[in-house]
Amino acid sequence: MKVTDSLAKAEKTLFSLEVLPPLKGQAISDLFDHLDELMEFKPAFVDVTYHREEFIYEPMPNGLLKKRTVRKRPGTVGICAAIKNKYGIDPVPHIICGGFTKEETENALIDLHFLGINNVLLLRGDAPKGESFKPEPEGHAYASELLEQVSNMNKGKYLDLELANTQSSDFCIGVAGYPEKHLEAPNIQSDLRYLKMKQDLGAEYIVTQMFFDNQAYFDFVNKCRNNGINIPIIPGLKPLATARQIQSIPKHFSVNIPDELVSEVEKATSKAAINEIGIEWGIQQSKELIAAGVPSIHFYTMGKSKAVRKIAEAVF
Ligand code: FAD
Repeated sequence: MKVTDSLAKAEKTLFSLEVLPPLKGQAISDLFDHLDELMEFKPAFVDVTYHREEFIYEPMPNGLLKKRTVRKRPGTVGICAAIKNKYGIDPVPHIICGGFTKEETENALIDLHFLGINNVLLLRGDAPKGESFKPEPEGHAYASELLEQVSNMNKGKYLDLELANTQSSDFCIGVAGYPEKHLEAPNIQSDLRYLKMKQDLGAEYIVTQMFFDNQAYFDFVNKCRNNGINIPIIPGLKPLATARQIQSIPKHFSVNIPDELVSEVEKATSKAAINEIGIEWGIQQSKELIAAGVPSIHFYTMGKSKAVRKIAEAVF
């Protein structure tokens, strides 16, 4: 089923998840063990992230550095098929611009179409560590360009315009939104302008970046509605799990952590205590979001089911 159909049919706030493909060389059973823990809460859909290549610089005897390219988490399309097959749940593969040509993207979309996977979340993708984002020579620079490609395929228009009697795909398209603005956006208004562009090009729903202050989400929804963005906006939550995240999350994602949460974490004397604080914060956030009637709560699990399970037990 398409994500938008699940949202339209739902009589209450849905539960949904994001998982990462296992690291290269690891078994898919670890991912299944993690999903097994959460199945009783009936996830409406499961997103699977996509990861571009990374560059490793290795020192050589002559003192120079040798650049090596590795893809640490391949397998998104295969994992989506495995999730659909094992659990009968709708997988949502993420498709990114970074590191891929239009042709490679088209081929991945064809695989998904053949597998009967008809949901995608379209993203620009992060830049490689320490670099700024650069599109591939034959790739896309922004999620909106990728959206155009998928919308075209949904109309039977492939890259090779000479193809005749083509099959149209039928992808339901989701995109990302940033309640506290995307870290590279000069201001929230320009970010909203491009988000509106994504809606106009065919995006049917938005999943937000994590946030720890629900007011940031409520304000974002209001701003979207005032700017003509009227598609469903699914809040994304990630339970805080370590003291280090108090610094790393604002730095890497430009997301604020409320002082009340920071103070609690600073007072905690063990990792277990910080975990409990993150879970309790997630429960309170979820209760308020459900009371506000949000379409789904989308949990960034990061391969750790325990915290999300405890939150789900308390609210779903
Ligand atoms: P875009 O919509 O392209 O926006 C990027 C920036 O450019 C923004 O500042 C925007 O305001 C601006 N902009 C947009 N369009 C234009 C335009 N036409 N002209 C000028 N400026 C423009 N990353 C991964 O690598 N893999 C994943 O699986 C993944 N999953 C994610 C899931 C969610 C729910 C979220 C919120 C993020 C995810 N990311 C993932 C991270 C994401 O790729 C980064 O945040 C990335 O930097 C931006 O992606 P985007 O799709 O929002 O980009």
